[in-house]
Amino acid sequence: MAIQRTLSIIKPDAVGKNVIGKIYSRFESNGLKIIAAKMFHLSRAEAEGFYAVHKGRPFFNDLVEFMISGPVMVQVLEGEEAIAKNRELMGATDPKKADPGTIRADFAQSIDANAVHGSDAPETAAVEIAYFFPSHEIYSR
Ligand code: UDP
Repeated sequence: MAIQRTLSIIKPDAVGKNVIGKIYSRFESNGLKIIAAKMFHLSRAEAEGFYAVHKGRPFFNDLVEFMISGPVMVQVLEGEEAIAKNRELMGATDPKKADPGTIRADFAQSIDANAVHGSDAPETAAVEIAYFFPSHEIYSR
């Protein structure tokens, strides 16, 4: 098993519901350490850049509007198989299909307001972490 880092975003719907702490507690109680964290209110250009891979998909404009609708909490998580572990804790993209007890099942209401983002592979994790955090703002212990 490898120690990995992954980028996590608590999206505007979950920040608005005041559940940052509840979501952090799930990370921490499942072996994921928060090694960097920052709150942002993303500009349109920042949100479009982050989701550039989805440009041209039918949901892209709505996704960008949603991501700039309020502040987001962005963190780097570190731990054994952190990328898959975080995706497991998040649950399926559509909260209606997410397993009970996952973050999306418990805190999200729709596929477009689905509470959290998590990197899906080591390559995307590296790019996404660098998008928000210079290396000196990451505190691996
Ligand atoms: N999304 C959406 N409608 C869709 C598919 C995706 O609004 O039909 C949004 C949703 O917020 C999702 C994000 O686009 O979290 C990125 O999609 P992806 O397939 O990468 O899902 P994720 O990795 O977030 O589970």
